[in-house]
Amino acid sequence: MDRVIYLDNAATTRVSEPVLEEMLPFFRQTYGNPSAIYTFAGEAKKAVDRARAQAAELIGAKTEEIYFTAGGSESDNWAIKATAEAYAAKGKHIITSKIEHHAVLHTCEYLEKQGYEVTYLDVDGDGKISLEKLQSAIRPDTILISVMAANNEIGTLEPLAQIGKLAHENGVLFHTDAVQAYGHIPIDVDDMNIDMLSASGHKLNGPKGAGILYIRRGVKIRSYIHGGAQERSRRAGTLNVPGIVGFGKAAQLAGETMEERSRRETELREHLIERVLAEIPHTRLNGHRTDRLPNNASFCFRFIEGESMLILLDRLGICASSGSACTSGALDPSHVLLAIGLPHEIAHGSLRLTLSEETTMQDIDFVVDELKRIIERLRAMSPLYEDFMKKGKNNG
Ligand SMILES: *Cc1c(COP(=O)(O)O)cnc(C)c1O
Repeated sequence: MDRVIYLDNAATTRVSEPVLEEMLPFFRQTYGNPSAIYTFAGEAKKAVDRARAQAAELIGAKTEEIYFTAGGSESDNWAIKATAEAYAAKGKHIITSKIEHHAVLHTCEYLEKQGYEVTYLDVDGDGKISLEKLQSAIRPDTILISVMAANNEIGTLEPLAQIGKLAHENGVLFHTDAVQAYGHIPIDVDDMNIDMLSASGHKLNGPKGAGILYIRRGVKIRSYIHGGAQERSRRAGTLNVPGIVGFGKAAQLAGETMEERSRRETELREHLIERVLAEIPHTRLNGHRTDRLPNNASFCFRFIEGESMLILLDRLGICASSGSACTSGALDPSHVLLAIGLPHEIAHGSLRLTLSEETTMQDIDFVVDELKRIIERLRAMSPLYEDFMKKGKNNG
């Protein structure tokens, strides 16, 4: 394919040039095991320490509160399962939301089978949790609140500071899956009373398979991977030095460029949203109109099957995604779109476009022009659309 327009940055991002440069020496030159005591390994150890400081700085954490993992899914599993185990004597109740990533939802479902009780908070039509509902869900045996910072499908930002405040006032730990937010929007673990935070390198132009779990000092947390004494004996396994170094560099760059990048992405996103809503009829924007990730636009087009749209976009070299349905290969509509109250038939016609630093206005205009054509074409073949048009356009 001669040209790819990559608008699936919520799924993964391209490793940036400076991140790659930073990683390369750790494959063949400075390849020592950072746990070793000889001088040769010293460079690797120093690089890991530097990366830990970079990862911490982005969220106002202390260096020693950062633990390196193999990505967002591991961090979510670790935070939730280890908290459940460590605090079981206090209680076995966990609060989360209905729109979490499966790394959180399936972990909570697993814990339910182990005798824990989980409250899955509803969200409103924009995808926001209600602080009142959160407040009333807290019980004396609640040990953990896990609510994501930003939703990966619809981009909505959750009120982290207010959730943290409530958690703190009630003596409940607060974990946030910040995989979509880390490096994209400002987060401060102290201001927001965050006790644990998950992030993943490949969502911020860093490498895949490298993530962090921030754990506030004083939080009792059990080891999740048992073995050697790495990561203060809490997460065993020889450190993924190139991945860690790449994560650190990506975090540093994300911090430096956040303001400008976010301003630019927001401008492109607004152009995209405005054009799509104005030029393609029977379309809705999913997620909060303004309180959303700078790079996320999510739509539902009536009378359209998301998959067919993706296939036609793919023929033009446009990479996009349709909810999370395709992950299972099944036709289940996304749990997030159902949670914001969309009926199945509308949720099926979803399209998520997530931009990057590299996206241009030209890309956006090209995609909207083509999308208009694709949707007209698909609707022309849809019996439901034909029916709808016969009945009159005034009711849609
Ligand atoms: C991508 C993602 C994850 C999983 O991260 P991996 O590093 O791919 O395991 C978890 N939560 C959210 C919100 C994500 O977007």
